Amino acid sequence: MTAPLASDRAYVPFVSVDNMMKLVHSIGIEAMLAGIASYIEEDFRRWELFDKTPRVAAHSKEGVIELMPTSDGETYGFKYVNGHPKNTKEGLQTVTAFGLLADVYTGYPVLLTEMTLLTALRTAATSAVVAKYLAPKGATTMAMIGNGAQSEFQALAMKVLCGIDTLRLFDTDPKATEKLTRNLAGLGMTLVPCKTAEEAVQGAHIITTCTADKQNATVLNDNMVGAGVHLNAIGGDCPGKTELAPAILHRADVFVEYPPQTRIEGEIQNMPEDFAVTEMWQVISGQAEGRRDDRQITLFDGVGFATEDFSALRYIRDQLEGTGLYQDLDMLADPDDPRDLFGMVLRATPASEAAT
Ligand code: NAD
Repeated sequence: MTAPLASDRAYVPFVSVDNMMKLVHSIGIEAMLAGIASYIEEDFRRWELFDKTPRVAAHSKEGVIELMPTSDGETYGFKYVNGHPKNTKEGLQTVTAFGLLADVYTGYPVLLTEMTLLTALRTAATSAVVAKYLAPKGATTMAMIGNGAQSEFQALAMKVLCGIDTLRLFDTDPKATEKLTRNLAGLGMTLVPCKTAEEAVQGAHIITTCTADKQNATVLNDNMVGAGVHLNAIGGDCPGKTELAPAILHRADVFVEYPPQTRIEGEIQNMPEDFAVTEMWQVISGQAEGRRDDRQITLFDGVGFATEDFSALRYIRDQLEGTGLYQDLDMLADPDDPRDLFGMVLRATPASEAAT
């Protein structure tokens, strides 16, 4: 079932997982990562327009369920997302998500979409946008620590936007590294599986940590981080869940998305409240300095912010027209007389009568 996008306000276009995968194939994953990255960068540049709030998180022993809302005044968006590190052992994803865009003027939804794949794409695109500003010049090698669901996306975005052509891989589960190596074979990158994180960081210009563990883990020790490296630490994104030895934060210049959220969820949750950070929107819009010199250690303490999901949702909405890669959902009650909601119910033919 396909009807005109948004022009028929009774229907809301819905992008299923199946259609999102078809969209990825029809656009091409590298082009899609570059496209989402450009929307993310554009929205960082107009940061001050957005309504911003730390995400609303419901924690349990097993994980977290979060709502991530924002608006630029014309369009409103939110994402529902979970994070359950124990899920993979039960054959389930650590992170799943869906999201919605709505028209601020009418309040009507204009897009509903799966966001598990889209989150992986937007997280990778965000990492690469940030690395464009912070990674050392001429970076070609990235250590990828944590080779789970997000990892291939991270690798490809760094290839497309930052010119990374060599990956040094480590995961505590060698099967994850084997899976990554299989998936990225033939995609134009040299893949070097490593036995330890120490080995993986040797010679790396960028180190991405993307591990899942609901605890203060030490994926990287201070002595593993040399001068000039850019750290892209994105796995620690919850209270009580971090990846880096705190000493690293004292040697690095730390860059964040939205401080009120990162101070609760990011690596800096282990630092004093006034620990100095630079906001990425300021770097991207030229109001703050990014990388200063070749010896500086830069650290992106990425937790994922609502504007990045908003950017990804906008991108998807702009690609859909004419593709047919969506279904129209009948999720808005739309009586001819807006005040006659009850009459609409009375006039509806019960299924039992319709069958006779
Ligand atoms: P996943 O469970 O699919 O993969 C995580 C991998 O980390 C697994 O293969 C696991 O074996 C490995 N691992 C765990 N501890 C390790 C360690 N000490 N050293 C090396 N490897 C280790 O999870 P995922 O979907 O890839 O997500 C990874 C993390 O990224 C999660 O914590 C998730 O919450 C976070 N995340 C952050 C953002 C963001 O915007 N910052 C977005 C999505 C996911």
